[in-house]
Amino acid sequence: MSSYCVIGSGISGATIANLLSKKNIVHIYDKARGPGGRSSFKRLKKSKGFDHGAQYISPKSIQFKKFITNLRKKKF
Ligand SMILES: Cc1cc2nc3c(=O)[nH]c(=O)nc-3n(C[C@H](O)[C@H](O)[C@H](O)COP(=O)(O)OP(=O)(O)OC[C@H]3O[C@@H](n4cnc5c(N)ncnc54)[C@H](O)[C@@H]3O)c2cc1C
Repeated sequence: MSSYCVIGSGISGATIANLLSKKNIVHIYDKARGPGGRSSFKRLKKSKGFDHGAQYISPKSIQFKKFITNLRKKKF
């Protein structure tokens, strides 16, 4: 088992960290206060906030459509 360090917890970092974590030890570091990068939700007050970037995903390739379908089936 190897150890990996992923810098950034946006969709790219989170995806590679998730794949690597199946057979390795993974540490994720992010300079921001919370995870998600430009796909995160920024909270201003208790009940108010806004999407920092991505609001929706439009998968076009078959592989990406499969990836999203499997992701939607998962329970977090
Ligand atoms: C306003 C806006 C609207 C958008 N709308 C959509 C949409 O509707 N649909 C869509 O598919 N895409 C949309 N996008 C694009 C999408 O949000 C991005 O392409 C995607 O989120 C990028 O993910 P990423 O992981 O590559 O980078 P990021 O999300 O930017 O993640 C990078 C992470 O790395 C961290 N980081 C950077 N440097 C360091 C460092 N030196 N040390 C530690 N951590 C570091 C950052 O804090 C961040 O968390 C939008 C983007 C914007 C700005």
